[in-house]
Amino acid sequence: MALFKRNIWLIYYILLGCTVLLLGGASVTQWQDMEDTYRLRQTNLIDQWYGNLNSLMLQQETIMDVLGQRVAAMDDPLKMTRQLDRLESMNPELFSGFGLTWPTGEIAAISSGLKEALVLNLTQLNAARDSFLYSMTQDKMVLGRPYAPTSAGVVLPFRKAIRDNDGKLIAIMSGSFWLDTFRKTFTCDPGLPECADIKIIRSRDRYPLVDSSKSSSSDYYNYAMNESEYQRLLAALNWDAEQGYKPYAGKPYSYLRRDRNDNSLMGIAIYDERYEYWLVLEVEESRFLAEVRRNVLIYMSAFIVFNICLFLLFRMIHSTEEKRRQELLYQANHDTLTGLPNRNNLQQIYDRWREPPNHSLALQFIDMNNFKGVNDSFGHECGDRVLKEIARRIRKSLNEDDLVFRLGGDDFVVISPFVNEKTTLENGRHLIAEVTDTYSVDGRHFMLGASMGIARFPEDGRNLDQLLRSADISMYEAKRQRMPVCFFEDRMQDTYLRNIAIEHLLRTAVINNEIYMMYQPQVDSTGKFIGVECLVRWENETMGGRVPPDQFIPVAEQAGLMPELGTFILQRSLQEMAAIQNETALEFSVSVNISVRQFLHEGFLSSLLQEINRSGMKHVLIVLEITESIFIEDMQQIVELITAIHEKGIRISMDDFGTGYSSLSLLHKLPVDELKIDRSFVEQILDDINAQQMVQSIIAIGRNRSITLLAEGVESEEQAQMLRDYGCDSFQGYYFARPLLIDELRDYLQDKVLS
Ligand code: C2E
Ligand code: CA
Ligand code: CA
Repeated sequence: MALFKRNIWLIYYILLGCTVLLLGGASVTQWQDMEDTYRLRQTNLIDQWYGNLNSLMLQQETIMDVLGQRVAAMDDPLKMTRQLDRLESMNPELFSGFGLTWPTGEIAAISSGLKEALVLNLTQLNAARDSFLYSMTQDKMVLGRPYAPTSAGVVLPFRKAIRDNDGKLIAIMSGSFWLDTFRKTFTCDPGLPECADIKIIRSRDRYPLVDSSKSSSSDYYNYAMNESEYQRLLAALNWDAEQGYKPYAGKPYSYLRRDRNDNSLMGIAIYDERYEYWLVLEVEESRFLAEVRRNVLIYMSAFIVFNICLFLLFRMIHSTEEKRRQELLYQANHDTLTGLPNRNNLQQIYDRWREPPNHSLALQFIDMNNFKGVNDSFGHECGDRVLKEIARRIRKSLNEDDLVFRLGGDDFVVISPFVNEKTTLENGRHLIAEVTDTYSVDGRHFMLGASMGIARFPEDGRNLDQLLRSADISMYEAKRQRMPVCFFEDRMQDTYLRNIAIEHLLRTAVINNEIYMMYQPQVDSTGKFIGVECLVRWENETMGGRVPPDQFIPVAEQAGLMPELGTFILQRSLQEMAAIQNETALEFSVSVNISVRQFLHEGFLSSLLQEINRSGMKHVLIVLEITESIFIEDMQQIVELITAIHEKGIRISMDDFGTGYSSLSLLHKLPVDELKIDRSFVEQILDDINAQQMVQSIIAIGRNRSITLLAEGVESEEQAQMLRDYGCDSFQGYYFARPLLIDELRDYLQDKVLS
């Protein structure tokens, strides 16, 4: 996910980079395109103007030549003047006048428009003199500098030397345009970008002949263009002194230059070789750039809009992705059923505690007893509801700093700060009391047992696995000891390891003939033999000899070996006792211990009946010893089963009575025939008032319901006497007899009963 998250922004940045490049590229191309277009337009304009100008000049030269010849040949000055007037009247707007001058500088004739200038000797007039003199040296028409020969205005003169057939100079024909009219021929629509300042500069002496931006009355025309300015222009044109004007003749040439004021100018120039002038069109680059900017700005806006959209799109994708990621993360870290954080989350939280907190922690492992039973009997839907309810109850009874996790199945873990054993124990008991309270689901009411194992950080484990294992071990210890809550202790670790060995070796115990039975006699208050309790024994070399049943039976239960082992015990006990009863013709009761798992195993009842039938023993002689711990499990089912067994005539004995934590009120729901007063009470009966009271009340309960009372673990006459006094019916214990091998039992019976 993180990769994708990074990738999506990477894609965005790549796209952004691409669009920036695109924008840059587009802008540059746009600039170049615009420049090309702009240059093209400039070229077109200057071509057009130059064409017009050049044809005007050539036409004018022809007229001047032809007319000049003719006028010079006339001898009547009046005729001459008329001829020149006619010429002037062809376009009085443009032409200010014409004149013919003898090579000496004397005026031969002059058109009426120039009459005032009659007094002038052209050689005297600075502005006119040089073109006059120059025209004498040339065959072609020559352009003069603007000047004002009369008060009527500034004119632009042109002159042509008139020669006879031998080439001898006869006269100079002069003409002039009104500068203002002439200037107007170069005007263009100022709205057009290419419409710019036009200049005509005489190359011979750098004098400006025309400048569209300078009025004809301007002093500007009286001065030659600044030498260095002119050189700059030539430099911009890549002027090559060797090549001279040739490359620029009649061909437009684009250039970029800086003027005196450091303005950048985009120019185009064309050179007229015949009349020796530059036609120059220049526009400030800034004007062009402004236009470029305008266009680029459009791109830029498009770019910005596009990128904002792109950004929003990516942000949207990102946020939906982020949401999805959060959801996935939540799913990965939470249990879907109860909404509690899961094992994954526990691991993560624990990892975050790399720096372990400086206070200790208590990790509480909670396991519901026989939760599988709920699923099996009421269906998974019901099981799910119960789990939700359990989660709700746990959450409800937590303190602020506590964290709860569901590890899966019916296993829950609570992590809380550890203050002291007492508080943690109290909290734990309270929590267990909450979750073992009656559940009402789909109109069914039932109770579930639960046990809690507590491991402390850092004493019981420095990492999560160790802590969980310690808590798990102490949870089993709690179950084994039938306590709601149990703290982890180091010895449990050994027990745990020993249990693993037991489990392994127990699997082959029956096949290897390591399992056998012992029988402990039971007597009535007069000492008369009335029955036996069948006690299983396991002898294994690896385990160092005899393993006590209260060690391996719970392991067998946990490991699922109990149905098989239980069947073996039942078979063997019934078979041996039936044999003895047949041999001796004695009828005595045979008590068989039934473990919880065995009891709850499917088909227990049918296999029990089958074994009894096979042994041929009377139902009424058989007693099943069950412990209160059975009622940790599914009550309803057990009550039904016990009732069914009892209806077959088999008797039921409550073993270890008074040690469990389930309610005594259970008794009236059950068809119990016998209560076994636990050894722990008998042990202390002589000197502990509590034990005495407990025994007395158990006897009272039994009496009340006509239930037989059997005291176990009787080791002395005093104990037996006291129990007799309290009203106990029957006894079992070392004082009367130890558990006996089958042959020992034969001897015992021979001794005590039959003789
Ligand atoms: P339990 O059912 O309470 O069995 C009585 C235990 O007390 C037996 O221990 C017996 O040897 C012992 N005992 C009898 N009289 C005295 C006495 O005067 N003093 C003392 N200190 N102990 C006495 P055992 O045989 O070690 O069995 C321990 C437990 O193992 C049993 O407790 C029972 O819960 C379980 N167990 C034994 N055999 C079987 C079996 O065949 N099936 C099942 N499911 N559990 C069995
Ligand atoms: Ca027993
Ligand atoms: Ca017992």
